[in-house]
Amino acid sequence: MPDTPNAACHPQSIRDVVESGLCIGCGLCQALAPDRWRMTMTVEGRLRPAPLKPANPGADAEILRACPGAFVEASAGGTKSDMVWGSYTHMAEAWAGDADTRFRAATGGVLTALGAHLLRSGKAKFILHCAADPERPMRSKWMFSETPSQVVARAGSRYGPSDTLSGLEAALERQQPFGIIAKPCDATAVRARAKDDPRIDQHLVALLVMVCGGASDLGKSQALLDEYGLTEDELTVFRYRGFGNPGRTRLETKDGRAFEKTYQELWEDESGWRIQTRCKLCPDAIGEAADIAAADIWPGGTPTGEDAGLNGVIVRNDRGQALFDQAVAAGDLVPGKDHGPRDYDDFQPHQVAKKRSLAARLRGLAAAGHPVYRHAGLRLDDLDAANKDQEAGSEMRAGAGRFSEAMPEKTTVPDASDSAQE
Ligand SMILES: Cc1cc2nc3c(=O)[nH]c(=O)nc-3n(C[C@H](O)[C@H](O)[C@H](O)COP(=O)(O)OP(=O)(O)OC[C@H]3O[C@@H](n4cnc5c(N)ncnc54)[C@H](O)[C@@H]3O)c2cc1C
Ligand code: SF4
Ligand code: SF4
Repeated sequence: MPDTPNAACHPQSIRDVVESGLCIGCGLCQALAPDRWRMTMTVEGRLRPAPLKPANPGADAEILRACPGAFVEASAGGTKSDMVWGSYTHMAEAWAGDADTRFRAATGGVLTALGAHLLRSGKAKFILHCAADPERPMRSKWMFSETPSQVVARAGSRYGPSDTLSGLEAALERQQPFGIIAKPCDATAVRARAKDDPRIDQHLVALLVMVCGGASDLGKSQALLDEYGLTEDELTVFRYRGFGNPGRTRLETKDGRAFEKTYQELWEDESGWRIQTRCKLCPDAIGEAADIAAADIWPGGTPTGEDAGLNGVIVRNDRGQALFDQAVAAGDLVPGKDHGPRDYDDFQPHQVAKKRSLAARLRGLAAAGHPVYRHAGLRLDDLDAANKDQEAGSEMRAGAGRFSEAMPEKTTVPDASDSAQE
């Protein structure tokens, strides 16, 4: 049963989702209705669905049933359960068996190693995920990787907008086993969509996510270009992290210059994070709908320097456990020590605080008459810290329009998310 604050109203259309700041730009709109929606980069640097035709709320009902701005649900396939961290079978440290993968990847390369293992073992024919757009490397683009080396080449965290699910329909049309590596919000959309589209359970063999602190809009990346006096068309490389853990943010230009910042330098000024509204209201940034979620495990939540790259892995269900065990047996993954939920409280204090504050934030939105998503199985009411400041602050910000966004104008021009299939 949903545990949504029932006084709230919910988005009734894609327009409601976008205008309420609840769209994360996952791309599902475009995948399900490419004749009606086109993912577009807004002037604020957010990927949003722009209408190609006059609104048709009836026809968009199937998108809304899966849209992570309208509905979020945890899956409960684990053998254990924790109030904060949800349902799971196993929590452990791990890293990629291949040293190059471990080095290149965002953290210890677990997601890449699992993707490569799926391909190498024949369990999957391709992986749907995202990587730097080769033409505009500051931006991300959905990709099909069909070989382990392609998955490795596309390792790394992309901190700007990403619309991996724009590729979902093209993936299903291939009628082959495939894996997805994406964000937790993407995973909830895929699980919800599976209720309407049986091809997902038939062909999707693994749903893998990173634990997620929030996606910045493109302005965060643009600010870096501005700082170095660069323009986007000068770039050949825009890497947010990786090549070490966490590794440096690195920009390279066509004329051979390179610019670097440490992770700490990139994120030291929180006022410049430009995290999207949906992320500030995210009820599941820890991958409760995935088979496996991979995380950073720095004590206290912040790196103090470079290290060899250790992931925390939250295995969510039997399918995830089988994949984890097979990848270890094949040498694609190296397991470290076991973890428990209280270890994660230390690794991810911001996630704990967010889970505990969400019910109050949603009450604040509801009090301001601002739409909120429906949610189920995420324990938000049980975790409610009843923080009156959070509630009042959300009500005030919603009332002042600070969570609201403009809907992109009707468009006829292909923009952000044409296929990058290999
Ligand atoms: C926006 C963002 C915020 C994050 N915040 C946190 C946090 O608060 N706490 C934490 O523990 N970890 C966070 N991470 C996750 C962390 O950076 C690593 O991704 C995670 O530890 C997995 O590491 P890995 O070495 O296994 O990943 P890799 O092996 O490098 O694989 C990363 C995979 O993720 C995919 N990917 C990368 N960026 C995106 C994106 N934006 N959208 C969809 N798919 C993407 C890539 O296609 C690739 O397949 C965040 C990641 C992102 C992208
Ligand atoms: S979150 Fe995804 S499905 Fe929902 S409106 Fe945005 S792009 Fe469409
Ligand atoms: S914080 Fe939540 S909504 Fe934002 S990108 Fe991460 S999983 Fe998606």
